[in-house]
Amino acid sequence: MSDHDDQGFGTRCIHGGQKPCEATGAIMPPVYMTSTYVQSSPGVNQGYDYSRTINPTRRALERNLASLEGGRHGLAYSSGMAAADCAVHLLSQGDHIVACNDLYGGSYRLLRAVYEQLGIESTFVDTTDEAAFREAFRPTTRMVWIETPSNPLLRITDIELCTSIARASGALSVVDNTFATPYLQQPLGLGADIVLHSTTKYMGGHSDVVGGALVVNDDALHERLRFLQNSVGAVPGPMDCFLTLRGAKTLHLRMQRHAENASQIAAWLEAHEAVDTVMYPGLPSHAQHALAMRQMKNGGGMVSFEVRGGLDASRIVAERVRLFALAESLGGVESLLDHPAIMTHASIPVAERHAAGLTDGLLRLSVGVEDVADLIGDLTQALAEI
Ligand SMILES: *Cc1c(COP(=O)(O)O)cnc(C)c1O
Repeated sequence: MSDHDDQGFGTRCIHGGQKPCEATGAIMPPVYMTSTYVQSSPGVNQGYDYSRTINPTRRALERNLASLEGGRHGLAYSSGMAAADCAVHLLSQGDHIVACNDLYGGSYRLLRAVYEQLGIESTFVDTTDEAAFREAFRPTTRMVWIETPSNPLLRITDIELCTSIARASGALSVVDNTFATPYLQQPLGLGADIVLHSTTKYMGGHSDVVGGALVVNDDALHERLRFLQNSVGAVPGPMDCFLTLRGAKTLHLRMQRHAENASQIAAWLEAHEAVDTVMYPGLPSHAQHALAMRQMKNGGGMVSFEVRGGLDASRIVAERVRLFALAESLGGVESLLDHPAIMTHASIPVAERHAAGLTDGLLRLSVGVEDVADLIGDLTQALAEI
């Protein structure tokens, strides 16, 4: 626990887990570009021995992330996938995972194409359907993997319900909180054992660094993850930690503006004649709007929509936007547009993609913090080209 854990979220963004440098007063944690630390006698050091194991800049980031998620322990990784990999490493051959079927493509690939070969099987299920979720459990189920809002369909899973079902079955629950960020929801308080982040996205927030994190409360779980982090070695460098930490300081401000812009764009799209469906948890028309408003502070910064005319029409919009950049990733200050079926989710087999409701005409927006009138102007001209 840090000194700031009883303070408001914005205060923790800026101060959580950090103190000015005692030697110099530097207000930002220095970037400790060092691989090793001098010992005064063999085995006698100041708590730092080797930078894969521990680095002061990384510690500052890990403490900050823990504080934001309301958790006791944070662990930083070289990418979100490295963090995910470390969480799956808690399992053994023969163990089974129940995962959300509307999952980040890379997480799906990790579970399906990497861990299945090693004897850890996953069942992908609609975690918004309680009966289907319960049915997916096997006697060997040891982990539940939830992403909410999901990607790219922005479906909402009831975290409290799913983590309590997982716990009753003796399974650890992992909640990927990349889309929501702790500004919108804090899964540990809703029963999750492990919160996962791709800090590449909103936490870093400036599209300039790749990273990942896990946050947990349980001391024994933390110790095991710390052992795995050091054994596998997918740790971020100090400069990456510094950049992520700098980004995290404005998370609350950015998230406010992301959500304001996204909710205006979602309402505008819903009224547009070239648009079939809009998926945004903050819209009253969203199938799980009530749950979203209970679980999340607001609808967040991601909006997905289907244009009339399927693949061809959606490709035109993707090619014609000018202010929205056509790119994978999300969560940065600049607005991005993604074509999930062709770009981020292409590794999911077509039949499975369609069964999950991910159509070829779907577009996903990561709404940035620009002036919303300019963003709507850009979408207006792109949709007019269909
Ligand atoms: C990007 C992302 C990941 C993977 O993170 P990387 O930093 O790209 O390795 C995992 N989950 C979600 C929801 C993501 O958006």
